[in-house]
Amino acid sequence: MHIDEKLTPILAEVLHRNAGEDEFHQAVKEVLGSLGRVAAKHPRYANGALIERLCEPERQVIFRVPWVDDQGQVRINRGFRVQFNSALGPYKGGLRFHPSVNVGIIKFLGFEQTFKNALTGMPIGGGKGGSDFNPRGRSDGEIMRFCQSFMTELHRHLGENVDVPAGDIGVGGREIGYMFGQYKRLTNRYEAGVLTGKGLTYGGSRARTEATGYGATYFVQSMLGTKGQSFAGRRVSVSGSGNVAIYAIEKIAEFGGKVVACSDSNGYIVDDHGIDLALVKEIKEVRRARISEYAAVKSAAHYIEGGSIWDVPADVAMPSATQNELTGKDARTLVNNGVIAVGEGANMPCTPEAVRVFQEAGVLFAPGKAANAGGVATSALEMQQNASRDSWTFEQTEARLADVMRNIHDRCAETAADYGAPGDYVLGANIASFLRVAEAMEALGVI
Ligand code: GLU
Repeated sequence: MHIDEKLTPILAEVLHRNAGEDEFHQAVKEVLGSLGRVAAKHPRYANGALIERLCEPERQVIFRVPWVDDQGQVRINRGFRVQFNSALGPYKGGLRFHPSVNVGIIKFLGFEQTFKNALTGMPIGGGKGGSDFNPRGRSDGEIMRFCQSFMTELHRHLGENVDVPAGDIGVGGREIGYMFGQYKRLTNRYEAGVLTGKGLTYGGSRARTEATGYGATYFVQSMLGTKGQSFAGRRVSVSGSGNVAIYAIEKIAEFGGKVVACSDSNGYIVDDHGIDLALVKEIKEVRRARISEYAAVKSAAHYIEGGSIWDVPADVAMPSATQNELTGKDARTLVNNGVIAVGEGANMPCTPEAVRVFQEAGVLFAPGKAANAGGVATSALEMQQNASRDSWTFEQTEARLADVMRNIHDRCAETAADYGAPGDYVLGANIASFLRVAEAMEALGVI
């Protein structure tokens, strides 16, 4: 990735100040790689250390989370909240519970979130949080006690006009419910807008669960449309089998595509008849089990332990599991097998080398901060419903989501063309989002 010489000192400072935080370095490099053209066109953004300020979180909170397991043993995890940027609105972004979580990962996610949220056009700043807690195999009681302890510290940093968390990997409706309950109890306030991704019985929005996967599929459909193509009749691979993957699979099928593979961290399944989504939902959402169980039920499907889902030939690939899951080697395999479009359902799932391989091969490529923005956009719609004490229908909410995704697509495409790189959605997303945050920061003065 070429970084403009005006920006190299900024990158050097980020690398130095955040030593060892590889994912954060990667995310900053990717954005700075696009900003050379902005610095050339609008030299004023070099003043006021605007880009430097954007790379430094406004606030970072790290705390101890003690809890008691079912055997009565006291356990300790580490909790994080990185409040990255509030120029456009309250900090907004999910919580991730996964053993890999550390401050560098949360910082990369918070940085990405700031730009993603700006792209939605909604009044939300960027933040991210979570814990190195591993929910796998934990009982409901253990999950509840962990969530309550986590919120006991985090609640003092939140508020519907301050910071509004939601879910991410390892945090879904169940965890949000326990955290909302504890927030309400500690503050003695029914402040629905303090968390999003809530259940429908206590202030959640319809279509929020589906939104990230649906939104990513809408984005890829628009992108395919620019080349006169669509999902209809296409073979698609979707990695992961969590919330994003499940609802991407659902929408792709609605658009006439055939999803033939999905995965979890242990392995992947291939079903040439098209993935049976009801079965995946039953395994993942009800049984909370591993995807290998799919092949145990469906004899026509194969389960491959380990290995790479990207070895499966596909026309469209939607990496929807986690960061850096699709490598340069995987990208070359997909290109050799004729892939025409790649849409990132997860945050930064393609390595920089993989992105380069796709772009050099002329494959349509949608970066996560644009393609997966439908989740957080629908969170902003949930905040709107909470603020007006209203609740919209599924159709109304999905129509708003579809509209937001179309706008993001068009804005990225137009910005890329304006800056001399038509079809480069990475550049378009980075510049369009940077301009929105930068203009607001400029207006607010040196803060
Ligand atoms: N964790 C999701 C994301 O990566 C959603 C965040 C939210 O809804 O606040 O965008």
